[in-house]
Amino acid sequence: MVEPGFYPRGHTPPRDRITFLFEGPRPGDGATDSMTQDTPPAEPGAGSDQEPRDFIREIVASDVASGRIQAPVTRFPPEPNGHLHVGHVKSIHLNFGVAADFGGRCHLRFDDTNPTKEEQEYIDAIERDVRWLGFDWGEYLYHASDYFERLYEWAVVLVKAGRAYVDDLTADQIREHRGTLTEPGRNSPWRDRSVEENLDLLDRMRKGEFPDGSRVLRAKIDMASGNINLRDPVMYRILHATHPRTGDAWCIYPTYDYAHGQSDAIEGITHSICTLEFEDHRPLYDWFVENLPVPSRPRQYEFARLNLTFTVLSKRFLLRLVNEGRVRGWDDPRMPTVSGLRRRGFPPEALRDFAKMVGVAKRESVVDYAALEYCVRNVLNKTSPRRMAVLRPLKVVVTNYPEGQVETFEVVNNPEDESAGTRPVAFARELWIEREDFMEDPPKKFFRLAPGREVRLRAAYFVTCQEVVKDASGEVVELRCTYDPLSRGGAAPDGRSPKATLHWVSAAHAVSGEVRLYDHLFTRPDPGAAGDLLADLSDRSEEILARCFFEPALADQPAGTRVQFERLGYFCVDPDATASRPVWNRIVTLRDTWSKVKAKGA
Ligand code: ATP
Ligand code: MG
Repeated sequence: MVEPGFYPRGHTPPRDRITFLFEGPRPGDGATDSMTQDTPPAEPGAGSDQEPRDFIREIVASDVASGRIQAPVTRFPPEPNGHLHVGHVKSIHLNFGVAADFGGRCHLRFDDTNPTKEEQEYIDAIERDVRWLGFDWGEYLYHASDYFERLYEWAVVLVKAGRAYVDDLTADQIREHRGTLTEPGRNSPWRDRSVEENLDLLDRMRKGEFPDGSRVLRAKIDMASGNINLRDPVMYRILHATHPRTGDAWCIYPTYDYAHGQSDAIEGITHSICTLEFEDHRPLYDWFVENLPVPSRPRQYEFARLNLTFTVLSKRFLLRLVNEGRVRGWDDPRMPTVSGLRRRGFPPEALRDFAKMVGVAKRESVVDYAALEYCVRNVLNKTSPRRMAVLRPLKVVVTNYPEGQVETFEVVNNPEDESAGTRPVAFARELWIEREDFMEDPPKKFFRLAPGREVRLRAAYFVTCQEVVKDASGEVVELRCTYDPLSRGGAAPDGRSPKATLHWVSAAHAVSGEVRLYDHLFTRPDPGAAGDLLADLSDRSEEILARCFFEPALADQPAGTRVQFERLGYFCVDPDATASRPVWNRIVTLRDTWSKVKAKGA
């Protein structure tokens, strides 16, 4: 069982259905052990040229066709109690996307009804994240707190109509009276207070006469309803807390259920789109709209939330990771938050592509994390310049290359984009190569460097390993190689072609710095399924390599710069980088052919 409370309102994602939306290559695919090309597979769903319209867009289209609306008005309604995560991206993409597709508009509304959990920092972060994702609410920025006065007036309307009452039961007693899925609830002894008494008590609640938790205002609907949400839901609770926007003007705050639909109605929202856990709240949503003099009649529609393998999408849980110091902050590159993914280097267009790829449905599913990585690679492959960096260095001395000589090769920046041009890369006698590109006693399918074997150094020369130098403990510390001067540029006149091409960096020219490698935060695809979410946290989700070597073109790049380190993956400059010390985050790996071969052999 998942720890209760980590998913919104009792929701836990299904464990039985994992949608492998993504059937493209994964890390480990590929046939040859040569320079990795990150060529994306055909777009999923290729073949059908028309994109199917999701059910929400079908509804909107028919509402436009029937004349019920001219254009949709949607909203993205985050509660500012944490940073947005990739699940919210799905919702943002849907709400802004529907509005754009049908010439309507999408509001950004902060559902700021719980001042004990909400902070200005989160409001700012959410605005920044939505903009970064590429969406624009224009002048339509709203806050549920803007409507506190109107919501209160409407509460009085319900009290006067005998449809709401002040209840003196404690929270525990209210819970006891609520009944269960199989048993009806019981009426509160305060349910039949007179309108006058209710008006007086509500007024005094507002004036601050009563302590927190001593009373609530409840809608008077039906304690025997089959839908628990209709068993006299709480509309207001007493909270003597300072609100980020309204300060100390209020000490009673509306509940989400009461505030949300009315906020929609005030703003003229036509389609109030939310996730499936609110389906059972819809009758209540409609009840308020029907019983109040609201200026418009919005309708609520529900879609399945995004669930991702190896990932927990719950602000509450993510907040706990931050508070307990299990990650370095909301924007830790391992976090599934928008700020974390941004710091990690995920491009916003990749997140939009992902939202589009997963689509919108009514049926709950879990999306394979590899689908997200696929979208990231797809964008980065087209846009990232190629560079050479060595993460776990091993020294190579080219013994027949003259000391002090330096040659400059013009190396292509991006084979996918000719306009990206070339850059000069220096070659000299001493080089760094990747430690794992050499094996003293190579197994059959290892085609890289080994004693007596020739490999190509990318864009430079063929080299052959002649001698292995070890330290006292037997560790290989240096390879002594010879080069073939005729193979200049990476091709030999006799047409021979080594099976492997390695990346390298000239030792004399290299810049040194740090690389941070990231992996899933959780060890299992269904975190929490065994009963303890925290126990599934991986202790290998981050690996810091402090002594890496980069080609000079990688020096002093601004934070957020994204490149492909040839054969290693896509990397992004972390904000921790300084002019003298680069720090690169691995965004995502390329497809690594060797690990597959190794895994197969094991
Ligand atoms: P969390 O549990 O992470 O706090 P939430 O639903 O409480 O999520 P809100 O700030 O209320 O967070 O969410 C704003 C909007 O984003 C809501 O309409 C909600 O339905 C939607 N949303 C939240 N999580 C997801 C998800 N995983 N997939 C799709 N939409 C989501
Ligand atoms: Mg919420």
